[in-house]
Amino acid sequence: MKASDPFALPAAEFFQRFRGESLTFDDLHVLQPRTIDFGVGEVDLATRITRNIRIKTPLVASPMEDISENQLAIAVALQGFPAVIHCNLSIEEQAAQVRRVKRFENGFVQDPITLAPEDPVSRAVEIQNETGISTLPIVEARRLVGLLTKNDYSGMKHAGQRVRERMVPLERLRHQIAHLRELPADDAARLAKANDLLLESHAGVLLIVTDSGELDSLVTRTDIEKSEAFPDSIKDRNDSLVVGAAVPTRPDEVRERIRELVNAGVDFLCVDSSHGNSLHERQVVEHIKGEYPKIDVIYGNVAESAGALAGLEWGADAIRVGKGVGSICSTSQVSLGTRSQITATWSCALTVREYCRQHRIQPSVPVISDGGYGTFSAIGKGLLFADAIMLGSMLAGTDEAPGEVIYDRQGRKLKAYKGMGSLEAARKGSAARYDVNSFESFVAEGVVGSVRSKGPVSRWVPQIKTGIRKCLQSLGFRDLASLHEAVFAGEVLLERMSEAGKREAGIHDLVEYTRDLPLD
Ligand code: 5GP
Repeated sequence: MKASDPFALPAAEFFQRFRGESLTFDDLHVLQPRTIDFGVGEVDLATRITRNIRIKTPLVASPMEDISENQLAIAVALQGFPAVIHCNLSIEEQAAQVRRVKRFENGFVQDPITLAPEDPVSRAVEIQNETGISTLPIVEARRLVGLLTKNDYSGMKHAGQRVRERMVPLERLRHQIAHLRELPADDAARLAKANDLLLESHAGVLLIVTDSGELDSLVTRTDIEKSEAFPDSIKDRNDSLVVGAAVPTRPDEVRERIRELVNAGVDFLCVDSSHGNSLHERQVVEHIKGEYPKIDVIYGNVAESAGALAGLEWGADAIRVGKGVGSICSTSQVSLGTRSQITATWSCALTVREYCRQHRIQPSVPVISDGGYGTFSAIGKGLLFADAIMLGSMLAGTDEAPGEVIYDRQGRKLKAYKGMGSLEAARKGSAARYDVNSFESFVAEGVVGSVRSKGPVSRWVPQIKTGIRKCLQSLGFRDLASLHEAVFAGEVLLERMSEAGKREAGIHDLVEYTRDLPLD
């Protein structure tokens, strides 16, 4: 391996040289070690978010009130990365949110919402408002007897009628019914066959029944269209979108919450603590690994080698790194234990890599760098060491984020975005993340603010993905695995940016200019 420049340093030497200093994104220049011999579109962004869960885009949406609820979770899963549903919700509501994501775009909707013939039509209207689902099989003693869709009734005119009066009865549904035994056992082949049958039926939904006429599952036309439109979507073995959920370190309620989330079909859990490496967190991680060995768990937040090591020893399937660096975070002003994000990510990633090598853990435990990311190049720098980047503010302004829309004095569209350690969020329940027992002496670790509106996820996230691809391409790497190999082997060289260099790297010497990205 020939170094690309005599004046820059490989990562290990670079951080050794700046031992005792905490560096972040803008401190770093990353030199190009390889010739670029491929197009930006050829860069593969696949990675793992936990030991066992592969994703197609190296991002994850943070478990925050103004970001990760079911709407955003669906939108980002279609773009190739998961959201972690936040836990400032009752157990029932959080589990319901997970269910909504899992129900969306299931190749086969395995436990479809159904109604009985005697239910009022108003119930169908409620279900549509609550879940967005408007195709409702009608069952009686589990046997399929009809179908009700939004084309069959008017919410105003028929609300008082019984479903029986408006549904399409079984006799008129024959062309859109398939028998379970006629479908292949293999998942992919079964879905392909069901899709063919659906297309031939000219109907919007295919109902799959058992020999005794009980409803087994359904496949909808919209689902087929969605999977065609979103080739990057991330799905589980049942073809449902992948979603995670946060759980607090509060031992009193966490067992029930975990059970309900697992029952709702959650793919992975994230033990949500701003100051990780605590005894409470250990209990929760060990409980999950002991009771639900198939559920992967993200542990954090940590910023130093010892914190990462503790998580590995307690059985974590991913290490979340970031303390005091989030855009809405005021921890650095009120507490200790914080560290600048690039040094924190490097140190934890190196520790995890070494540990996994020594303990022959293959594939190794992913590192998620969480907080402080506001530009595409920052994401690129984080991905030199981390397997995925957790985003807060960069997703908070999207249409699908639950934050409130506000307009500022210049008429710009903004969206509310608050820290989970702000007083407002803590009152709703996130106090556990910050270990708060009483509000009288509460010291906020986050603020309430707003970010620029960024439009729909389907327009904004593809730009972020191109940005990440450009970062990898600019160094000559086609994927993250080869980038990491080169970084840890010392092939990628780094330099510290001087203060004058930072000014030079920014836009300068212009009277005015326009921004073409909705970044803050
Ligand atoms: P952002 O992407 O907005 O820079 O950072 C988001 C991250 O900040 C979250 O994933 C979480 O780790 C962290 N965070 C969220 N709310 C707060 C808060 O109120 N205080 C602190 N210290 N960190 C927060």
